[in-house]
Amino acid sequence: MPQPKFDTVAVVGSGVIGRSWLRVFTRAGCRTRLYDKDPQQSARALAWFDEDVALDRREGLASADEAKRWRALITTHTTIADAVKGAGFVQESGPEKIELKRAIYAAMDQAAAPSTILSSSTSALDIEAIAGDLPGAKRCIMAHPCNPPHIVPVVEILANKKTTPEVTKATIDFMTEVGQKPVVLNWYVNGFLLNRIQAAVVREAFLLVESGVADAEAVDSCIKDGLALRWAFIGNFGANHLNADDGIRAYFARYADAYRSMIGDLETRAPKFDEATMAKIVRERGFGEKPEQVRAFAQWRDRMIVRLKALKAKHPQQ
Ligand code: NAD
Repeated sequence: MPQPKFDTVAVVGSGVIGRSWLRVFTRAGCRTRLYDKDPQQSARALAWFDEDVALDRREGLASADEAKRWRALITTHTTIADAVKGAGFVQESGPEKIELKRAIYAAMDQAAAPSTILSSSTSALDIEAIAGDLPGAKRCIMAHPCNPPHIVPVVEILANKKTTPEVTKATIDFMTEVGQKPVVLNWYVNGFLLNRIQAAVVREAFLLVESGVADAEAVDSCIKDGLALRWAFIGNFGANHLNADDGIRAYFARYADAYRSMIGDLETRAPKFDEATMAKIVRERGFGEKPEQVRAFAQWRDRMIVRLKALKAKHPQQ
């Protein structure tokens, strides 16, 4: 991986997302300055980092040298002002509360050098509302990751009205350099792209189980043994394109009416997300619910995704 354009970055907030950004940035060779309002959280993030890297080492996904080098790139700081010192890029990953985000952004904007890019991980808030009024609004942007960003590369980029095109371009370039896959939104929509698509699938999957059409294993099998095998390589439109020998136009010439009928049949209401449905899903999918079981499942998922990504990198789309 070539050295990214920002050799020093800061991560503000070291929870689930902030700690994963630590892995993204250090893996790319960036000196990474960490701040969390709660120093114990920073300590927990570092312990998680060490454990996660150790797991990679056991799996043959990282060398002893890399583990040492990555860890040595992280420093912890006790104020936002100190953390952003010398950083060319800051990835804010604090709590998803508008008043907190605005306060964190005001502090970052006041302390960071004028050229420093201030990027937010927010998963639902509008970057316009977070940073649009600040003196440095033009260097503020959103880079919303999919959890966990060091495993799942897509990141949604959204500018506010004052963000300069140079800042947007530099953010896209930097995210690419550190191994992420940036996708750009032209304006704010609730849920951005990722969560809107996810919400559509969640709604239908839950309603199918809630109403008893099929059990949870059958519904998930349609995803993991069906649709997602294709999606992982060619996405939705790619799947549409290959569903007819002569491509997407021919496919929808034949099937648009069927889709109109099915889409008309979809319910617009939200699922109940009630206890009875949760218990049914847990039972039918055989999920362990103890924290260590959930953790082991997540670690297995991460290892499988790393292997899938390696396969995709080895066989880029023709
Ligand atoms: P989290 O609760 O795990 O972590 C938030 C961290 O911010 C905590 O460590 C907390 O101590 C710290 N914090 C609180 N006040 C702070 C302050 N004033 N300055 C600095 N740090 C402060 O949350 P998370 O899940 O890591 O989410 C972080 C951000 O990433 C949110 O905006 C969230 O919407 C977004 N996000 C989350 C996910 C996800 O699946 N968890 C996915 C994508 C994006």
